[in-house]
Amino acid sequence: MQSQPIDFHPPAEEAAAFLLPVTASLFADRADRFDALAVGHSLGDWLVFLGQLSRAQQSALNALPELPLPDVASLEQARVHGMPPLNVANCPAAWRDALRRIAGELAAQAPDTAASVLATLAAADDARLDQLADALLSGEPAAGDVAELPFVAAALQVVFTRLASQFDASQLQPLDAHGVCPCCGSPAVASVVRLGAAINNLRYLHCSLCNSEWNVARATCTTCDTDQQVALQELEGSKGAVRAETCDACKSYLKIVYQDKDPNVDPVADDLATLALDMLVNEAGYERSGPNLLLIGAYSG
Ligand SMILES: [Zn+2]
Ligand SMILES: [Zn+2]
Repeated sequence: MQSQPIDFHPPAEEAAAFLLPVTASLFADRADRFDALAVGHSLGDWLVFLGQLSRAQQSALNALPELPLPDVASLEQARVHGMPPLNVANCPAAWRDALRRIAGELAAQAPDTAASVLATLAAADDARLDQLADALLSGEPAAGDVAELPFVAAALQVVFTRLASQFDASQLQPLDAHGVCPCCGSPAVASVVRLGAAINNLRYLHCSLCNSEWNVARATCTTCDTDQQVALQELEGSKGAVRAETCDACKSYLKIVYQDKDPNVDPVADDLATLALDMLVNEAGYERSGPNLLLIGAYSG
C-alpha cells in the first residue's frame, strides 16, 4: 500500500478582532508621519508642531509607570452589560504628570501663541487641569478653553493608550455600536485598511482616545450599520490613501486610510493633513461621526 502524504492545510489564522496599541513606538511613528506630511503642505508649520507634540507624547508615555486597571468585579460587570472595560470618567491622576511633561518638553519648540498656552497649563493647579479633562472627556468643553484642549487631549491619549495596552485582547468584546471603542467607549477618529498576513485588507476602526483598533466589515456605515448607501469620496489628485466614507442613510462620514496605497498612513496624522476633504464632504451635507482630539473644539462654531 502506498502511503499518501497528508494534505494538511492548517486553518487560516483567524483575523484579530482587536488590535491593542503598541506603546513602544506608536506616538514616535505618528510624529514621523506628521513630519513627512508637513513637507510642501500649506499647513506645514502646524503639522510640524503636531509632530513635536506626538514626540512629546511618546516621551510622556515612556515615563509612565504601569497604571492600575479596573478590578475583576468591575471588569466582569462591564462584560455582562456589554460595556467597554475602561470608563473615561475614571481618569488616572497620572494624566496630569503626562500633561506637565508634554508642556515642559514642548515649551522650547512651540510658536509664541502655543508657548503661552503651555505656560498657562504648566502653572495650572490639579483642580483646574481635572476640570479641563472632565470637560473634554464629557464632550462639553467650554469655548474659552479651546486653545488648551489639544494639549489636554494629547496627555489623556497618553494615559488611556497606556491603560489599553495593558489589556489582553481576550478581555475585550465587540460592542453593539460599531463606531465606539470596545476598550474605552470613545468614538473612532478614522478607519485603517491594513496590510499584514492575517489582517490583510481588513478594516479596523481606530480609537480617538486610546489608540485601540477593532475590526468592522468594510463598506458598512459605522454609525447606522447600513451597507446600502455608503460611498467613498476623495480629493481630486489624491492618490487614494485617504478617503471619506459617507453614508446617505444617516448623513455621517468618517475617513478611511489605506496601507496598501501608503504603508505609513496614520489615522490621526493623515486625518489632520486632509482637512480639505472634511470641507468637501461637510459642504455636501455630511457630518463627521468621530472627532480628532488634536483638533477638538475646532469643529464647533
Ligand atoms: Zn479607546
Ligand atoms: Zn449611516
